[in-house]
Amino acid sequence: MNALSEKSSASKSVTVPEEARALAHDVIEFLLAHALHPKPINYAVAYEYRMGGVPALNERIELHLQAGKALDDLLMREFHDEYLAREQFRSLRGLGGNLQTLVNGLIDDISEAGQSASGFRSAVESNIARLEDENEEDGVAVGTIAADLLAAAVKVHASNEALRGRLEAADKEAHKLRDELERHRREAMSDPLTGLLNRRGMEYRLEEMTGKGVPDEMAAVVIDIDHFKRINDTYGHAVGDVVIRHVAKVMRESVSGDDVTVRFGGEEFVILLPRRDLDEASVVAESIRKKVERLRLVRRQDKLALDPFTISLGVATRRRGEDIDGFLARADMALYAAKNSGRNRVLTEVELN
Ligand code: GH3
Ligand code: MG
Ligand code: MG
Repeated sequence: MNALSEKSSASKSVTVPEEARALAHDVIEFLLAHALHPKPINYAVAYEYRMGGVPALNERIELHLQAGKALDDLLMREFHDEYLAREQFRSLRGLGGNLQTLVNGLIDDISEAGQSASGFRSAVESNIARLEDENEEDGVAVGTIAADLLAAAVKVHASNEALRGRLEAADKEAHKLRDELERHRREAMSDPLTGLLNRRGMEYRLEEMTGKGVPDEMAAVVIDIDHFKRINDTYGHAVGDVVIRHVAKVMRESVSGDDVTVRFGGEEFVILLPRRDLDEASVVAESIRKKVERLRLVRRQDKLALDPFTISLGVATRRRGEDIDGFLARADMALYAAKNSGRNRVLTEVELN
């Protein structure tokens, strides 16, 4: 019997503790109650929710449910990426740099060792001639000792050289690994549909920026496609995706420099505009609104001209010392005011109430 079948037959007789059984039951119940397929990501989120180990996740889910909204696969994936995958991502970020530092340190140590062996060799070499001159009679004996010493030093040097060569190869490998980690990190930060940053990427970019001493002054534009559900329902999800991509393209073409463009969620986007005040950000927002309104899309398969669509936008600026969630929440309130006052418009936080 091989190890695998031993294990599987043994596991049949293992009694699952009552607690574990109840937990699994609760998680499945939760998924079924919300008409969610018990696939791994959904299960992982529901499991974490049931365990309560990530309070921010529980808060998000509860707020969502209290608002009478349904959970779906898309949202569960978002929760997973936002609350469960983040820690993994953070540790990945540090790894490449640490590895490089380690290998670089080793190489320095070995270089130093190699240099001292070289020094030893040249010292012995320069002394041989002197030893032979000063000891005419027993010059051969001293010379032999010195030659032996030299041979030993050369050997040490050669082995150090070989070691250094091997470490340099390891260094190359570490560079390759770090590049690979960097690629994974970039992928983890961006949204595959639009190429914009995702929420995690936005946080990372902000950390980078504040590290570089970007001034407190910053504006945020929050964007949501109007009646997007209707677009999906009328033309299908694939066309919905194309619409999302076009909005992202307009956003990208309307910003510059170190502006940050983000797909924040399904059909919601954020633009962070460093060093821009409310009026300047409103100008950017209004130009995006106009460009989207003027888009005329045609469905490729049957050349059907889609009805024009619009977006609503909310603008706010960062108050001194405020964190990202604070001023995004105010931009969001402006966005909802824009929705409530008829959609297809830009509202700023000063126009609230
Ligand atoms: P409102 O004008 O108030 O914003 O209405 P809405 O229909 O745009 O808003 P609602 O929040 O009711 O619907 C958003 C829809 O977007 C629901 C969801 O299925 C869809 N959606 C979310 N992410 C994606 C995606 O990646 N692709 C597609 N095609 N649809 C998505
Ligand atoms: Mg929305
Ligand atoms: Mg919408």
